[in-house]
Amino acid sequence: MPQHDVLLLNNNYEPLNVCTVLRAVTLLTRGKAEILHHNGHMIRTGSGELRAPSVLRLRYHVRRPLPELRLSKHSVLARDNYTCQYCGSHGRELTLDHVVPRWMGGPHTWDNVVACCRRCNLKKGDKTPDQARMKLRRSPRRPKYVPFISLPNYLRARANEEWMQYLPVFEIGRAD
Ligand SMILES: [Zn+2]
Repeated sequence: MPQHDVLLLNNNYEPLNVCTVLRAVTLLTRGKAEILHHNGHMIRTGSGELRAPSVLRLRYHVRRPLPELRLSKHSVLARDNYTCQYCGSHGRELTLDHVVPRWMGGPHTWDNVVACCRRCNLKKGDKTPDQARMKLRRSPRRPKYVPFISLPNYLRARANEEWMQYLPVFEIGRAD
């Protein structure tokens, strides 16, 4: 349940992760974190009731190397909001399309891979969008996002207004 998720910030207020309320309580009782925001709910603990945290800040700094955002079907579909980039349909029947087909030398990179429904995929075939007379809704780019949080978690976190102030702007490719 989203209201039980807790945004965990590093000592310097950088987002680190999204964790469960249980994990958050453990960090609190061990004195490893402080509460920046509550979510308005109460939770039961062994020793009584506690106002449920919504945003926690660690009391110490965690050093982590910047992980690469891996190009995968999952991350491309999340970037494209589970929407076919040609016809705009939503759904589970999405696949990946190489805008410039692989056989023409199109690379497997963020700016050449988009979410595509099976119908559009079939229609486009082994052609470029121009050749197939299809138009991309926006040009694909590598998403800029907070790299510590997984992309689906990050997109979920954006729905939480309280968390927004700690989350850098998520920029994805727009058709200019
Ligand atoms: Zn489509």
